[in-house]
Amino acid sequence: MKKYLLTLSVVAFLGNMQALMAQQPHASCGTPHPKQVLQFAATENLSANPYVVQIFVHILRNDDGSNAAMDDATLRTNLDRMAGFYRPHNICFTFVGRDFIDNTEWNTNYSTADIGDLHAVNPHSDAIDIYVHANGFEGSGGNAYDIPSSKCSVAATASFNFEHEVGHCLGLLHTFETFMGAECPDGSGCGSDGDFVCDTPADFAGSQNMSSGCTYTGSQTINCNGSDQAYNPPTNNIMSYWAGCYAQFSAGQGTRMRNTIDATGFLQDRLTPDDRIIANVTLNAEIAVGAQNSIQIGNIASAGDVAMNGNAHGMFNAGQFVQLVPGTSITPTGANSVLLTINRMCDGLFLTSEFPSADRRHTALEMSSGMQVSPNPFNSTVQVELTLPAPGQAVLQLLDVSGKLIQEIPLQGNESAQTLQLNLPQLDQGLYFLRLRHARGSETARLVKM
Ligand SMILES: [Zn+2]
Repeated sequence: MKKYLLTLSVVAFLGNMQALMAQQPHASCGTPHPKQVLQFAATENLSANPYVVQIFVHILRNDDGSNAAMDDATLRTNLDRMAGFYRPHNICFTFVGRDFIDNTEWNTNYSTADIGDLHAVNPHSDAIDIYVHANGFEGSGGNAYDIPSSKCSVAATASFNFEHEVGHCLGLLHTFETFMGAECPDGSGCGSDGDFVCDTPADFAGSQNMSSGCTYTGSQTINCNGSDQAYNPPTNNIMSYWAGCYAQFSAGQGTRMRNTIDATGFLQDRLTPDDRIIANVTLNAEIAVGAQNSIQIGNIASAGDVAMNGNAHGMFNAGQFVQLVPGTSITPTGANSVLLTINRMCDGLFLTSEFPSADRRHTALEMSSGMQVSPNPFNSTVQVELTLPAPGQAVLQLLDVSGKLIQEIPLQGNESAQTLQLNLPQLDQGLYFLRLRHARGSETARLVKM
């Protein structure tokens, strides 16, 4: 589902690092002003295909494995509700997996300054990482760290922040944002001020405190275009602070999210591919393949069977259909199993099976090029050996730990073995990903620079 850039301009911005904090302890969000703001022409994005975003959830626990921030049933409820808010905007989710991270401090008394260390534990270059903490932190119940973003934190006590923080990840600003200037209640400035979305009414920080239930009872005004204009804030909008009243994203917000994905490489890297052909592979570990429009499994042309060995469990969730090609042979043995489902995440349900207990990223399936990286860790030069599994265009990408593209090398798409030498003396020490994208999908190797 590679999408392409619409007209946009990027406004460089140096802002305060902290958004205005809300007054209600649970309603707030610590997401800072964006480092830069994407602005889009009014062009409607007309893509017919759903934007299927992959997410991975990390549940914090205490050092001894106790006090899990959220149990699976509650997580499922929260993700299901979140998916429901995005579905009308043609945005869906593939649940890639869930793990536990055991650290009492991060679970109960988290400091967002620790996000680097937290994110380094089990980062995903192909999914938005969502961290769930037992308690609120720094006076807030969520933080997306930037706008857009590849990761966010949510306090279990403010679980409505799943939908709110993921909104930031996909490019949405608060409805009351003013750092580029305040939006006027009459709508003037709506495309260049406020939240850069024109169908969300002007809002102001703290509007939720002037309320009776979900009705705004305040009388605050702002001087715009020479007159005092009264606010009529959007009390049901997920990017406001009216947390108990969240009911929707606006159509303009949906467009902004889709445009943001189109314009943001690291978000495109987190989309589920449209279609996937699985053939001639041996599954030796748990795998999951989610939310493609179609999946074809089995004896395709000259490709061979799909074999399930060892502890393999196959789980295939397709957006529209799973096609078992005539001659397909899947023969799990022992306690192994194969589950084929039509993915209903854009239709009503988020998941129809149990949560995977391990990381089942789809990339684990596709290690069919046999990419070998050595030495690893490396000092300045690393050697990559690979054999592309099919002819066609291929590319080798070097990504940092946040998924940011550092270098890209186009490859000849033939099926013979090749060896590449990457000279990376300028690279900082740390963890990196090497991603190989080829006609059969992609695979990722971790790389450590000493
Ligand atoms: Zn927020």
